[in-house]
Amino acid sequence: MRYQRPKGTLDIMPEEAGRRFWLQTRCRQVLDLYGFQEIEIPTFEHTELFSRSLGEASEIVIKEMYTFTDRGGRSLTLRPEGTAGIIRAIIENNIKLPGRLFHFGPMFRQERPQKGRFREFYQLGVEVVGLASALVDAELIEMATRLFRNINIRDFSVAVNTIGCPDCAPEFKKELVKFLEKSKGELCKDCHYRLERNPLRVFDCKNETCRKIYKDAPKVREHLCPECQEHFEVFQAALKKYNIGFSINDRLVRGIDYYTRAVFEFISPKLGAQDSLGGGGRYDNLVEELGGPKTPATGFALGIERLLLAAEEFPLVEEKPVFVIGLGEKVLEAGIRLLKELRDQGIPAVLNYDASFRGELKPQLRQANTLGVRFAVIIGPDELAQNSYSLKDMETGKQVMLKLDELIAFLKSESEKC
Ligand code: AMP
Repeated sequence: MRYQRPKGTLDIMPEEAGRRFWLQTRCRQVLDLYGFQEIEIPTFEHTELFSRSLGEASEIVIKEMYTFTDRGGRSLTLRPEGTAGIIRAIIENNIKLPGRLFHFGPMFRQERPQKGRFREFYQLGVEVVGLASALVDAELIEMATRLFRNINIRDFSVAVNTIGCPDCAPEFKKELVKFLEKSKGELCKDCHYRLERNPLRVFDCKNETCRKIYKDAPKVREHLCPECQEHFEVFQAALKKYNIGFSINDRLVRGIDYYTRAVFEFISPKLGAQDSLGGGGRYDNLVEELGGPKTPATGFALGIERLLLAAEEFPLVEEKPVFVIGLGEKVLEAGIRLLKELRDQGIPAVLNYDASFRGELKPQLRQANTLGVRFAVIIGPDELAQNSYSLKDMETGKQVMLKLDELIAFLKSESEKC
């Protein structure tokens, strides 16, 4: 019986894992510049945390969550996103606010897999909790653009919108429902459902007929209360000050209940149908909704797989180990001593114990080639007798005999070039 990985999951091979490590390191550099601190939270939470925060009618809660009952009869869910868990952690651990937190980790959604869309995928999530100013929303967008540049993503655009607050959004929703009712007969099945449960979500519909109808739909920004109006103006003015090119997209509403006021999305033309690198917005009511004091907050999440697809180049980051080759049982001990010495000196090194024991040169050279290493160090009876080592450059085929200190000095200088 051969097993396959579950649909929508990824095996991340070493080269790809190296790219991910590089990407995370480069993201962390930028997050540091803006005073963010890392937080880690569980991969599963009580189901209610998500149904409460995302909204019972959100698509994630209805169709996409991996929910299970554990042996204690508790309903648990693999996290489909990070914000709810972070807010729970802030409340539960009494974290001092305002706070700037980020997290990396896997998320789980049972979506139909396609390019850039998986059932297990990684996100970088960023949250600023305890600050209400629209200047923060603008700063987050500015930070995201710096982050993109730092990971070689040059081609992207920024779309923004506002979705009001609990004072003005219900009025807008009523207007929208009135508008949708007029064309109800022409709407697709999914939009009928959305109309009943979460009308804002109709704007995410990909159906051509629906999209045409929504072109004339009322706009949230024409129904804002004065506070939301001002917030949106300050937000846009700050983006302009930061020199961020952006467009207002009235259809950008984000399907999760907890969003208020400013929302935004980062788009890459390199991604195909799933063109969103990430997005976010303000969520001023979530902390209270989850049992904390009234606390404004804002944040965004980027999909790591999409960042990797959009990044235009990656530096070679991998340092290949030195391949130590022993020629027989008698020299194996010297080989193991060298291995330890190299590692003590900070030089990565490996040895094939089985082939070394048997004293087979060719298979070991073949393996060194397969691994793509640059240098092999051969120890045979001659080397042992002369207390030396044969260093072989696998690229040029050249071989020289060196004493231990010469060998180490040479390998160190090569390693520094990496
Ligand atoms: P969301 O939490 O839905 O706002 O998504 C934020 C970002 O996470 C998206 O823009 C994508 O980059 C990424 N993302 C969301 N869902 C998936 C998925 N199923 N597979 C891969 N990336 C995803």
